[in-house]
Amino acid sequence: MSISVNAAFDGGNIRVVGIEGDRIDLEIVKDRQSDFYQWFHFRVAGAAGRTLTFRILNAAGSAYPRGWPGYSTRASTDRETWRLAETRYEGGVLEWRWTFATPLAWFAYFAPYSMERHAALVAHTALAAGVAHRELGRSLDGQAIDYLRLGAGPKQVWLYGRQHPGEPMAEWWMEGALEWLTSAAAAPLLAAATVHVVPNMNPDGTRRGHLRTNAAGVNLNREWHAPSAERSPEVLCVRDAMDATGVDFAIDVHGDEAIPANFIAGYEGIPSWSEDHGAKFYAFGHRLAAHTPDFQTERGYEKASAGNANLSMSTNQLAERFGAVSVTLEMPFKDHDLNPDPDHGWSPERCKRLGVACLETLAGMIDEI
Ligand code: ZN
Repeated sequence: MSISVNAAFDGGNIRVVGIEGDRIDLEIVKDRQSDFYQWFHFRVAGAAGRTLTFRILNAAGSAYPRGWPGYSTRASTDRETWRLAETRYEGGVLEWRWTFATPLAWFAYFAPYSMERHAALVAHTALAAGVAHRELGRSLDGQAIDYLRLGAGPKQVWLYGRQHPGEPMAEWWMEGALEWLTSAAAAPLLAAATVHVVPNMNPDGTRRGHLRTNAAGVNLNREWHAPSAERSPEVLCVRDAMDATGVDFAIDVHGDEAIPANFIAGYEGIPSWSEDHGAKFYAFGHRLAAHTPDFQTERGYEKASAGNANLSMSTNQLAERFGAVSVTLEMPFKDHDLNPDPDHGWSPERCKRLGVACLETLAGMIDEI
């Protein structure tokens, strides 16, 4: 029986360079019309009883090569549970071995969240009591930009994620957040706030197996100052909807390749920055860290200096445009090292729990926003 490596499915990405004996040489494919790449997801068949060595030969040229040291590939035999496969990064090559006790196995950069699962999430949530669904617009490939609204309170809360499609932890977070928002526990928050949710900003990149861009190779999180129907209709329709409601608090959900921790980034450096405005952002981070061992405030990105915020990024744009308390949330591809899971690393279940923890924290301070 010959070994088959296949990524021709929703969210798949890999190119086979060569198969020689038990060694499978691979490359990650670039996003369409872009040089970004790092997301991979593929299936292997025909290897039962064998031990194979997988090598991603172009790992060094990926978008964030500092993401590879200390990283472990995710592997699954049932597409439900994703475990860490012992992985090493040496000489610019990412390498792992796998002994096939089963006919099939899947490998991915992180537990995938497909467009098919997105469709199920939207359908399930839209059936819950008190939920309104709307298509805000369409992507360049013609897919719907799904939007869900819950609650009727005066504060306007926006949750949006997966501008970068190769960061599926964002949509696992959304799944946890939406389960909580449709439970009885959310009643106090939904009395104080109207919660607007866009669980996937970039359906084309998701289906195409991209890391960072849409079908035209555009990084959506560099479009918020001037989105256009030609380049970034995904951002344009969401920003128009935000203009209609206003924004008091927002979370933009992402994954970070290099830093082994959950962290948030804010809007230091926007033209209208004030200590009072910033204090609400920092208060959210400190309260979240006190609420869950899966969050911390020590590690994160460098802050922009005064006046140097990049207003093409959504978090800065919303803070400046609406005076919103505006949060970029980053979850790791590695693990949250302060509270590690040696079998699964940072995992879908933990993304979902962090989604709940973020909303519980928000509920406790919504009156101060
Ligand atoms: Zn991102």
